[in-house]
Amino acid sequence: MKTVVVLVACVLGMAVARPDLHTHLYGAQVLRVVPEEAAQVYYLKGLQLQNYFDFWTEPRAIGSPVDIMTTAFQIPLLKHTLTHVGLEFRTMISNVGELVAQQKAAREGARASGPLSLDWTSYYDYEEIMAWLDTLATEYPELCTVEEVGNSYEDRVMKLLKLGKGGADKPIIFIDGGIHAREWIAPATVTYIVNELVTHSDTYDDLLSNVNFYVMPVINPDGYAYTFTDDRLWRKTRSPTNSVLGCRGADPNRNWSFHWNEVGASDSPCSDIYAGPEPFSEVEMRNVRDQINKYADNIKSYLTFHSYSQLWMYPWGYTSDLPEDWQDLDDLAVAAVEALTAVHGTTYEIGSSTNTIYAAAGGSDDWAKGEAGVKYSYTIELRDTGRYGFLLPEDQIIPTGEETFEGVKVVANFIRDTYSP
Ligand SMILES: [Zn+2]
Repeated sequence: MKTVVVLVACVLGMAVARPDLHTHLYGAQVLRVVPEEAAQVYYLKGLQLQNYFDFWTEPRAIGSPVDIMTTAFQIPLLKHTLTHVGLEFRTMISNVGELVAQQKAAREGARASGPLSLDWTSYYDYEEIMAWLDTLATEYPELCTVEEVGNSYEDRVMKLLKLGKGGADKPIIFIDGGIHAREWIAPATVTYIVNELVTHSDTYDDLLSNVNFYVMPVINPDGYAYTFTDDRLWRKTRSPTNSVLGCRGADPNRNWSFHWNEVGASDSPCSDIYAGPEPFSEVEMRNVRDQINKYADNIKSYLTFHSYSQLWMYPWGYTSDLPEDWQDLDDLAVAAVEALTAVHGTTYEIGSSTNTIYAAAGGSDDWAKGEAGVKYSYTIELRDTGRYGFLLPEDQIIPTGEETFEGVKVVANFIRDTYSP
């Protein structure tokens, strides 16, 4: 097995890791393989660390599908490589660039005629989402305040929305999205949830009087902006690295200090799972960390939204060991997913990160529980299961928001019942 990894490395010895140009997506494909033995899982993990292919989902276990994007140029090489280790593949997306272009055209068409306000029929860029937060603070001053909590590497202002009317001593649910730039459904869903609470505040009066929601919809602003302007499939931050190849950015969800870089991350600045040169090297993650620390005594739940795969996960991500109170986290996750599934029949897997997905240290959910002491810390991987992956069509934003809101409400009601004085 190892020899094949070496072979790939040699063949592509001169190759540069994924170029930033949007054009690298034209003719690109996403292939799915399902490893059937441990050696194949091991092989795929090695292949991922070579940085030649963009792993949309990570190798986790026997029987769990792995989606790999390859440039048009490298399709024959990837197919040959997979075949060589006995992995059958099927094509999930036959032309990534074409799909990106189609969705971009549809979005621009909608934007040309549509209102400036968000309506969740298309995806919105960073400036639009931040402007919308400010609008909430203006239109619902008794419910919403917005604070500037720092700047990104490229100097974008990061904002924290505080939503609630019970006063500062109430328990807090801290919600974020968009840590991985290309996972557009995450900020869309987080803003959808906020909008539901704000525009139906009478319905949720009891909840909003007893629980505070602290929300940062897009915590990787530079990466997110870059997915709109340059590379739709960008994942990381945009900070410079020491790479001679000019590779930029760290994986912000490998950058947190709890068991940083112990497993499931890379030291290579060109890798999509680059942990960064040190814990909290990324200013955006320091900004979020500072807010969580500031309110840690009152934060009872941390919800961080990703896509895709439909998973509701709790710590730990750095080890297959479970937290002592894992049963509490599992029980609440089961209840939340039950409510989520009841809306549109969307099924989710539940479990600890390591046992559900793969071991990966340096994640924000592990840090929130392990360092900040937030008991109910969850990473939620939204729709879908790979038909579109990160390129989830806009007409799925509202259904995703509807079902996820039901799950979040279960968590929120539980936090109110358990912690509100
Ligand atoms: Zn993610």
